[in-house]
Amino acid sequence: MRLVIKVGTSSIYGPNSRLDLNYMADLAGQINSAMDHGHEIILVTSGAIGLGKGRLGKAPHSLTQKQALAAVGQALLIQSYQAVMGNKTVAQVLLTREDLEQTHRRTRCAATLRQLLAWNVVPIINENDTVTDEEIRVGDNDTLAARVAVLMQAQLVVLLSDIDGFYTKNPQHDYRARRLSAVSWVTPDLLASAEGAGPRGTGGMVTKLIAADICQRAGIPLVIAHSRHPAVVMELAQFNKSIGTWFLAQAEVSTHVGENA
Ligand code: ADP
Repeated sequence: MRLVIKVGTSSIYGPNSRLDLNYMADLAGQINSAMDHGHEIILVTSGAIGLGKGRLGKAPHSLTQKQALAAVGQALLIQSYQAVMGNKTVAQVLLTREDLEQTHRRTRCAATLRQLLAWNVVPIINENDTVTDEEIRVGDNDTLAARVAVLMQAQLVVLLSDIDGFYTKNPQHDYRARRLSAVSWVTPDLLASAEGAGPRGTGGMVTKLIAADICQRAGIPLVIAHSRHPAVVMELAQFNKSIGTWFLAQAEVSTHVGENA
């Protein structure tokens, strides 16, 4: 099975705003094991700008500075992933929205990713923050993961976050909120119950729902789950529906309608 796994900024950083290398090693171990079970994994990860800031001790005061910090941080991010990935090799793939839209670039991108997967290499994708402006940005890595999944005809998208799924309301602000285990369609009502990012995240639930909508329309299931759930990658690769919130692919919907629990 081909999986696109997106890990959020809130998951790869520890409370001290440093990369949580223990977590990254755990995730890398899970990816290794999933690949040894025959799965193909494409990883989408953010976190470059924060790393650049930490390395140079600078906060960005302009778009140019932000993009320059992303360039510094991206190198560190990939080095860190390679350091924890054991005997698997990682490859850096930086994309813009145009790369996924313009026919020729889209075709080249898919061909390169297929080659990497055939070599058992883990493509690690991020937005090409160094060159993008608003015109050509995908904008967030949840949507980027969904678009890559459509491009690569993945069988599952996994969004790993600092929360164990999608709730009826943001649980940070409403203690009565409850997690939905399965969602048939991303409706306007559902979008209304999604809020932006937590203190360390970026897109929040809004971009995750947009990603789910893209995937559902393409017939690809997407699941939001807690990054720290034990062995979460293999559990989800085995379609363990007791964890996370599953945004079902169209074919599955008829058997699950009304199952929100
Ligand atoms: P990531 O870095 O994993 O993408 P984000 O901070 O961007 O993380 O998104 C996850 C956060 O979204 C949660 O920690 C929570 O604060 C917030 N959130 C907003 N609305 C909801 C909702 N309806 N259900 C769950 N979480 C929500």
